[in-house]
Amino acid sequence: MTSSRLPGFYKMKMSERLRRLAEQLDGEELRGLGQSATLPLANADAMIENAVGVLGLPVGIGLNFLINGEDVLVPMAVEEPSVIAAVSLAAKIAREGGGFKAEADEPRMIGQVQVTELANPDAARAAILRSREEILAAANALHPAMKMRGGGAKGLEVRLIKVGEETHAIVHLIVDTQEAMGANLINTMCEGVAPLIERVTAGRVRLRILSNLADLRLARASCAIPFEALADFGFSGAEVAHGIAEASRFADADPYRACTHNKGVMNGVDAVALATGNDWRAIEAGAHAFAARNGKYEPLTRWRVEHGSLRGSTELPIQVGTVGGAVKANPLIPVLLRMMGDPNTRKLAGIMAAVGLAQNMAALRALGTVGIQKGHMALHARSVAVSAGAKGTAVEEVARALIAAGEIKLHRAQEILAKLVAAPEAT
Ligand code: NDP
Repeated sequence: MTSSRLPGFYKMKMSERLRRLAEQLDGEELRGLGQSATLPLANADAMIENAVGVLGLPVGIGLNFLINGEDVLVPMAVEEPSVIAAVSLAAKIAREGGGFKAEADEPRMIGQVQVTELANPDAARAAILRSREEILAAANALHPAMKMRGGGAKGLEVRLIKVGEETHAIVHLIVDTQEAMGANLINTMCEGVAPLIERVTAGRVRLRILSNLADLRLARASCAIPFEALADFGFSGAEVAHGIAEASRFADADPYRACTHNKGVMNGVDAVALATGNDWRAIEAGAHAFAARNGKYEPLTRWRVEHGSLRGSTELPIQVGTVGGAVKANPLIPVLLRMMGDPNTRKLAGIMAAVGLAQNMAALRALGTVGIQKGHMALHARSVAVSAGAKGTAVEEVARALIAAGEIKLHRAQEILAKLVAAPEAT
């Protein structure tokens, strides 16, 4: 079994990290790692319109994750320093309490068909419900392989919604998308059943597209961390735990805080979405709409102190696929999925929920004690050094000098680098 505990990984050179990974993964699982141009131009050209190049993004590994008793190496693609360091530390702390429990619902997504110009909305609603089986059969006829896999259109609901002066019938097709995120296949179904719905309602169909508020496809994660595992920065474990719980209550009370709280959760979720070829905008849209489902924007995670431990939990929609979309378009993505143990979509969604919870814990742990800047700025200094043009060993030298100067600014990094280049021994 792969271990996600790789002590000292962060201090190694990239080549050493790859050697360390090779001790527990086979060559196929590492193919493409350690290279920068992993998305061929031809693929890029086929993926989007007006393509002119490829933008690289660092891929790292979130370490120390123990999820449902299994070690998982979590690939994360992200440009922001400190995200991976923070999540790996939080996962290490959570291990002390047995790691994370995680699960996800069946992959059921909602497709919407908007029916307008209805003389009698209630009668239209009844007519659609009477034609339920015919509509589902028509949807499934457009994607017969989905039904054979055990998925496809399985449910139908009708909501009457006032839009301006009119009442529209909004048909929800509930589709089991199996291993796919499902947007394209649902959109095909929604467009395909529109003529039938127009016929039975005598109305006019307008929009036909999935809803990214994927609240039938929720993922959940939780953890319970003993106080001892939390002691740090000169604070006792109990103090850190209470600081995290208090920060959680602040997010409950204030949408301005809840928004930033959730940004921290999504730092982790989005990085895994990108590394696994998933549509992070869809996940973001779904997560924030879900956060506002009670009429007030709320945090996606909650932390409380109970029986000498800190307990955290999260629930959010995670609409991901392990097939379709961009999963196969970038040859590195199947490699990264294999490194995770080739999870199916439900397992992947559970892992992402655990990563979001860990990411949030890391932020609150620092915010409730010494603040995030101490840890963050050290890593940020390296990015600033690179932005100033530092290369190789100069990156660390410039970063160290920036931290010592207490001013992590680009112009300062450029001055330090210029001095270093002029007189390498002087700095
Ligand atoms: P695709 O259409 O790319 O792929 C899904 C297809 O994969 C299925 O229809 C199915 O086709 C095939 N497939 C093969 N094996 C399986 C399996 N085990 N389980 C399920 N399907 C399987 O992707 P999606 O429909 O998932 O759409 C996702 C894409 O849509 C993303 O790239 C997203 O960015 C984009 N998108 C998102 C929107 C949004 O979020 N609002 C809107 C529009 C597009 P078959 O049955 O024929 O084999």
